[in-house]
Amino acid sequence: MPKAYAEISKEITFEAAHYLHNPKWDRARNLEVFRKCAGYRKDDPRAVFYPHGHSYRLKVMVRGPVDPATGFVMDFRGLKELLKREVYGHFDHRFINKEVEPFKNDPGFQPTAENMAQVIWKRLEPFLRKEKVNLVEVALWETPESSAVFRGGKK
Ligand SMILES: [Zn+2]
Repeated sequence: MPKAYAEISKEITFEAAHYLHNPKWDRARNLEVFRKCAGYRKDDPRAVFYPHGHSYRLKVMVRGPVDPATGFVMDFRGLKELLKREVYGHFDHRFINKEVEPFKNDPGFQPTAENMAQVIWKRLEPFLRKEKVNLVEVALWETPESSAVFRGGKK
């Protein structure tokens, strides 16, 4: 039988806090662009780096050949353990701007769903390559209605 390829995916959720702030912009511009997500507060002129939280949902999809012996592209448990270790372990209950690389060392790099999906891709990719599967898609929901999908950054 010819080798069959398939895609599998796994989802996890985590809770984290962040704010969005461009250090090159003044207070008014940050509030205008980032609104409720800004570290500023409209009603408190002294507020600067105030966080707010999100319940994030992450879905990671990988593609590879279906192993004829197991019927697996990759064991779901292995994928779950990877997400627990490399994503949940770094993001859950964290203040992303202050605690999570690369955001904590690069205040100009916003912890948006788009950028977080990209960071998560970079964390997972080397481990998945070792498992001989290709990372296809990292989708991150910031709210049930808002999500970003990263597919390796190609246009
Ligand atoms: Zn937010």
